[in-house]
Amino acid sequence: MDERALTEELFPNIFLADFPQHRDAMAKLLPLAVRAVADGKMREFERACAGFLADGPMRWPRYDAHLSYWGEADPRLPEIEDGEVVADGDFREAGELLAHRVTMAVLQERRRRQYLAETDAFPFWRLRVIEDGRAYPDCVEASKTARHFTDPYWQSKALPCARLFCRCLISRAEREGA
Ligand SMILES: [Zn+2]
Repeated sequence: MDERALTEELFPNIFLADFPQHRDAMAKLLPLAVRAVADGKMREFERACAGFLADGPMRWPRYDAHLSYWGEADPRLPEIEDGEVVADGDFREAGELLAHRVTMAVLQERRRRQYLAETDAFPFWRLRVIEDGRAYPDCVEASKTARHFTDPYWQSKALPCARLFCRCLISRAEREGA
């Protein structure tokens, strides 16, 4: 599957799920998403995502949930001392996480389609997590068990992960079980 075509297919759904009011912005960001995935122009896409977030919606519930889960201060808020703004709000991290979500979706979906073509040899899948301290406990727990590719778990599990920065992905497993 061509990466460009796959990005064009996936990006609108990913973006509009979080920003349904921003179809115009989606259309502007789409070619940059394609360049990020197909040509490695990730910085350009991250900056464009940060720009969109800074100009447009102040709320991004998925990012709010990320900050509150990890107990992080909101970098989007300007720093104020003695009633004066000493530093503008910073949308860089939010932009990076939005861009990252798109590239993860493409990677994930490429894998899923490839694995679906190989289920005769590898009928069991396992969720793979990167143990960098940012994986969520239920994803880590789920990663301990290999499941048949027809297991309802794979329908119920949102991939890319519903939670920002959790880089869980499907991988193939040699056999079923732990
Ligand atoms: Zn996860």
